[in-house]
Amino acid sequence: MKELDIDMAWFKRELKGIITTTEEKKEAPDGIWNKCPNCKKPLHYSEQVENQYVCHYCGFHLRIGSKEYFSVLFDNNEFTELFPDLTSGDPLHFEDTKKYVDRLKETQAKTGLKDAIRAAVGKIDGQDIVIACMDFNFIGGSMGSVVGEKIARSIDHSIANKIPFMMISKSGGARMMEAAFSLMQMAKTSAKLALLAQAKVPYISLLTDPTTGGVTASYAMLGDVNIAEPGALIGFAGPRVIKETIKKDLPKGFQTAEFVQEHGFLDFIVDRREMKEKLASFLKMMKN
Ligand SMILES: [Zn+2]
Repeated sequence: MKELDIDMAWFKRELKGIITTTEEKKEAPDGIWNKCPNCKKPLHYSEQVENQYVCHYCGFHLRIGSKEYFSVLFDNNEFTELFPDLTSGDPLHFEDTKKYVDRLKETQAKTGLKDAIRAAVGKIDGQDIVIACMDFNFIGGSMGSVVGEKIARSIDHSIANKIPFMMISKSGGARMMEAAFSLMQMAKTSAKLALLAQAKVPYISLLTDPTTGGVTASYAMLGDVNIAEPGALIGFAGPRVIKETIKKDLPKGFQTAEFVQEHGFLDFIVDRREMKEKLASFLKMMKN
């Protein structure tokens, strides 16, 4: 008898879970719709692309990866990827809840990325540029030896070809599975940037949400021009850690791009929808 009831329910489409509400449809797993994390309004995928992944209701900058930044910045989304096949070793045979080598393999399969950064050479408004862009999807955009090595080699490419270098940072900091090898990347990239400056090749640093940890302390703040996207979290330690350490409430807006600019560490905050245009004029300016 019970089975029959269920059958009938199926037939009448009354059983819980069969009928999909409109609200649920908007969050369909096909990724067509996304909810803005700030104003909660539904954003259609095509609207996101059209609007450079900025919410057209409230201006919130959605978190995007290298694929999206390249498409927003490079002319006609044309670029040549640099050193695409660099992958991480496991120098320390690290293991937490799973082996580091397994975590790497899984993340590579899930994201289609080799590590937390991609570098490419292309043009912005007809002007050559090398862009290295971090991917937060890949173990929190953590800086391991591949990230450091790719940045270092991209800078070499910039110096050899006299092409301006741009770094798009988005990182939780050092990659703990690589411990000291990760921390060494800070020194390595900073040293390379000094060579870039010596060669008088411009360096533009773009800080996006979030840029924290060792990345902030090294290459992210060393640009000839340091730019951030509006509302981006920027800091060395996270606000929670600092609050617990100093045992005081933090000022409002602490560690947002706006706060950091007010205190003189950033040159500009640029809306992503105007980013390409601004970069084009910086590049022109720096050439002269
Ligand atoms: Zn919004």
